[in-house]
Amino acid sequence: MTHAGPDSVSTVVDETTKTFDVVVVGAGPAGSAAALEVARAGYSVALVERGPFPGAKNVYGGVVYGRILDELVPRWWERMPVQRWVTRRATMVMTPTQALTLDFRTQDWGKPPYNGATAHRADLDSWLAELAVEAGAVLVPSTVVTGLLRDHAGAVVGVRTDRPDGDLTAGVVIACDGVNSFLAKEAGMYRTGHEAEHLTLGVKQTLALPREAIEERFAVSGRDGVDIEMLGCTRGIPGGGFLYTNLDSVSIGVVLGLTGVSKAKTRPEELIAELKRHPAIAPLIKGGEQIEYSAHLIPEGGYRAMPELIGDGMLVAGDAAAMCLAAGIWLEGVNFALGAGMYAGRAAAAALKAGDVSGQGLAGYRTMLERSFVLADHRKLRDLPGLVLSDRMQQNYPGMVCDLVQGLFQVDNPLPKPGLRTLLRRSAKDNGVRWRDLVRDGWTGMRGLR
Ligand SMILES: Cc1cc2nc3c(=O)[nH]c(=O)nc-3n(C[C@H](O)[C@H](O)[C@H](O)COP(=O)(O)OP(=O)(O)OC[C@H]3O[C@@H](n4cnc5c(N)ncnc54)[C@H](O)[C@@H]3O)c2cc1C
Repeated sequence: MTHAGPDSVSTVVDETTKTFDVVVVGAGPAGSAAALEVARAGYSVALVERGPFPGAKNVYGGVVYGRILDELVPRWWERMPVQRWVTRRATMVMTPTQALTLDFRTQDWGKPPYNGATAHRADLDSWLAELAVEAGAVLVPSTVVTGLLRDHAGAVVGVRTDRPDGDLTAGVVIACDGVNSFLAKEAGMYRTGHEAEHLTLGVKQTLALPREAIEERFAVSGRDGVDIEMLGCTRGIPGGGFLYTNLDSVSIGVVLGLTGVSKAKTRPEELIAELKRHPAIAPLIKGGEQIEYSAHLIPEGGYRAMPELIGDGMLVAGDAAAMCLAAGIWLEGVNFALGAGMYAGRAAAAALKAGDVSGQGLAGYRTMLERSFVLADHRKLRDLPGLVLSDRMQQNYPGMVCDLVQGLFQVDNPLPKPGLRTLLRRSAKDNGVRWRDLVRDGWTGMRGLR
């Protein structure tokens, strides 16, 4: 297992103006995958990262679905810095006093080629960047890209950095600078308006817990681990919660719609504290000592909120292109970033080979994305982010579902047992759910998932 950190930083560019075939901005999963593919194709590539090492400040919940790595790193599971393999996935619908959990486990996911894994970002991002460096990419850490360089016709021909005389010129710039991409904005690729509605704030605590306690409480052993997503734990603010197991810590947090959280005037840490006190969660994390607190924005607008992906001399990938998929049972950004970065790297190499780095020459990027899960999944599930973040899904349905199941399981002898129809009607009425909304949302959900 490779654990790359600050000491493993490989190359620092000192020259005043340096020319590369490709400059990749941001050494997150998208950037490292892009740089890896460009380097493998035999072109020179600089991977510029503002942090002192890749992943230094990057935040996520903690689960990576690694199958896209099959294409990038054969037998990746033998090398990736994994905490635990996810063999249990659960979705929990909650009210302050109730919790209904759909809990699935399979040992199939605990052996190669695996399904999901928990991993710390500092480990994962450093490992991915190191793969790019091994293939020949030049990593340029502790360097902020501050702007684009353009030729007289407006095509992007490089970047400006915060280093004195730190211009880097390139045939293609790949912007992988994460959510709210400053570079995509500067290039005019974002459509204006409504940005806050498409953003959520993810807030996470990491709690240290002994390995034995995790295994006992989550009913796992060895390297097996658990991924729990929650709905109804954010006081009606659009969003949800998560709880993931690492080797000897757990990650717990909430994801909150930005406009909702600012209107509610509630601090995210209050919501996490409330979640940690919930009777379904408290026993799992009891005694856990906070070792990390972090927060980051997530682009949850999905397909409809994506910017232009291709410009003359420029591509945009990963969160920078709003490619994080947040559709209820999925919160997947890393594998979409890896896929998009990989295709961006390939498209850049193909354009360089053909001697045409205009938007037209780079169009292969869009084709590859369309043919792959990256845009296929986003297009297919384009209505789900809005549905998941809707008021009804957040404020009405969790209570309705929990009341319905409580009614089914409750034994009220000597009263006769109520029928399902009565229970459904009662739980819908008590929770302010109208039938026509239920049918419409059910239809949207089914259509999205078909
Ligand atoms: C709380 C939370 C929970 C999440 N949970 C999950 C999860 O469990 N699983 C999952 O798959 N996804 C999850 N996500 C989403 C996931 O983190 C992102 O989708 C993913 O990291 C996107 O990768 P990226 O490479 O596009 O961007 P990032 O990982 O954000 O990388 C961008 C990089 O660019 C660098 N950078 C930015 N600007 C500049 C600049 N001007 N100059 C130089 N460098 C720059 C940054 O330092 C960073 O390293 C979560 C996100 C959050 C916030």
